[in-house]
Amino acid sequence: MSDASSLPSSGAARPEPVAGFPAAGNLSDAEREDLRRHGILLTSLEELYNWGRSNSIWPLQFGLACCAIEMIAAATARFDIARFGAEIFRPSPRQADLMIVSGTVTKKMAPLVVRLWNQMPEPKYCIAMGACAISGGPFKQGYNVLKGIDRFIPVDIYIPGCPPRPEALLHGLTQLQEKIKAERLAGPDTARHLRPENPGEFPIPDYGAHDLQPPNNPALFSPPSLPRKP
Ligand code: SF4
Repeated sequence: MSDASSLPSSGAARPEPVAGFPAAGNLSDAEREDLRRHGILLTSLEELYNWGRSNSIWPLQFGLACCAIEMIAAATARFDIARFGAEIFRPSPRQADLMIVSGTVTKKMAPLVVRLWNQMPEPKYCIAMGACAISGGPFKQGYNVLKGIDRFIPVDIYIPGCPPRPEALLHGLTQLQEKIKAERLAGPDTARHLRPENPGEFPIPDYGAHDLQPPNNPALFSPPSLPRKP
């Protein structure tokens, strides 16, 4: 048991804050830990806010192809996504703050996915689950398949695999939780959804004669330029 003499003095050197776990106020994590051992729990509004949000993520209840079966498996008793507070799959985008794009995004489906994203309130997050959602996967060369949902909406977490197992989805979810915990509510590093210049809605592409129009959102995605050999 520590005594009061072990409490930090004001002149003590402060260690660097641990990434993702900002210090409350101007106290370092080590100082807070010392106070906690004395029965004093200190936190900041920002940390409390992020802790609550990161442990109550509500995913949108929709799936696009085989990866959705793995997403469903993650909600079963064996994998138990409820351990992370994300078991409440909402059937309405108005009540969801996480879109898990699980499966092949066909060009016919892409405008509907963007519309669902636009209908979700901020703050909202996107996980691209599986090779198809990331890049088109095994159907990349198909004329009818979108080569990555990040051409139209911003993706926070990419989970590779064909399909990724439920454990991979849970890992992606915990990565997203870390990202949310590290968000700032004010200052130069303010979170994306709190900056007015960042849009919460994105243009919905139209069905063109041969492709989606536009084929991608230029504000989000620029195709790599491949120099032609002479
Ligand atoms: S990545 Fe593989 S498992 Fe997932 S939707 Fe595509 S083909 Fe199906």
